[in-house]
Amino acid sequence: MPRDPIKQVKTLRRPADLAAAGLVQPEALSALEAVAQRFAVAVTPDMAELVDPTDPRDPIAAQFIPDARELEVRPEERADPIGDEPFTPVKGITHRYKDRVLLKPVHACPVYCRFCFRREMVGPGSEALDPAELDAALAYIAGHEEVWEVILTGGDPLILSPRRLQEIIGRLNDISHVGLVRIHTRVPVVDPGRVTDEMVRALRGERAPTWIMLHSNHWKEMTAEARAACGRLVDAGIPMLAQTVLLRGVNDDVETLAKTFRTLASARVKPHYLHQGDLALGTGHFRTSVARGQELMRALRGNLSGLCQPTYVLDIPGGHGKVPIGPGYLEPGADGAWTVTDPKGHTHPYEG
Ligand SMILES: *Cc1c(COP(=O)(O)O)cnc(C)c1O
Ligand code: SF4
Repeated sequence: MPRDPIKQVKTLRRPADLAAAGLVQPEALSALEAVAQRFAVAVTPDMAELVDPTDPRDPIAAQFIPDARELEVRPEERADPIGDEPFTPVKGITHRYKDRVLLKPVHACPVYCRFCFRREMVGPGSEALDPAELDAALAYIAGHEEVWEVILTGGDPLILSPRRLQEIIGRLNDISHVGLVRIHTRVPVVDPGRVTDEMVRALRGERAPTWIMLHSNHWKEMTAEARAACGRLVDAGIPMLAQTVLLRGVNDDVETLAKTFRTLASARVKPHYLHQGDLALGTGHFRTSVARGQELMRALRGNLSGLCQPTYVLDIPGGHGKVPIGPGYLEPGADGAWTVTDPKGHTHPYEG
């Protein structure tokens, strides 16, 4: 019998809370306690309510409910999978590309995704930047005129109060060479009630526009509340893009990806990136092969509006940056011509 959904009012942070809510089996508890000691756990009421505990393949549960397999570390996995560390000139700043920096004012998130690429860095115990550290991070940006874009990430910046966000965004707007502020967040999906009118006002820059990159992996996450939260942001003139992580058992089939990207576009959120899973510790059970990712992208091309097509990208381990990883449609042919593959898989010569 499906249980009656229990309306949660608080974020669930301990395996025992998850068991009490019927989201994990009591016999799994001791194994999950060990996982929770290693990697932070949090499931917001909105996400807890969405889980169907009778579905062993529930895509929401798979993303947020801890799993004993997280303690299985593969040799290729790393504590700093995308190599941020060497590009950290001051605390809270990652400066890998010349024209843009990451600014991480906070390391906590409203939920902890089980596949998080920064899982070694995020968690409730990791403190936000203190006022002196924030001053130093902003001074770094002010001192580097080549920085055109500041990407607020973390953690999830939207767990900060509207007052704090307004202060940070205001100070970034005071730096004349900063032309754009981008915010990476999962809040409109996992805790849409935080996106209040006050929050929306706080996010709008006086001068430099604010763009939001939403992290969303499955159409089921895009509830009516989530879509309304995105609507409030877009109505306020904040453009929205989405990044999606390719996750085995969650969204690694054509139908799920197509429906997810259409749902995002319908919410006025443009699918921008599809990420190959990073080599974070204990996330092997989520990763698909690059060959599978390319196969999925090929199947989407031609069958799904171009508006709904993200770029499939890999963050190269070791800090070498993010690059598109195909599939490719163009290859050198004979005599300096090209061979181009159409969406049906047929090849054609092209002189050019
Ligand atoms: C991903 C990332 C960015 C943003 O890259 P875009 O290609 O502009 O999305 C910037 N800095 C760092 C360190 C990153 O990892
Ligand atoms: S919201 Fe982002 S940073 Fe936070 S746990 Fe999920 S993937 Fe990690």
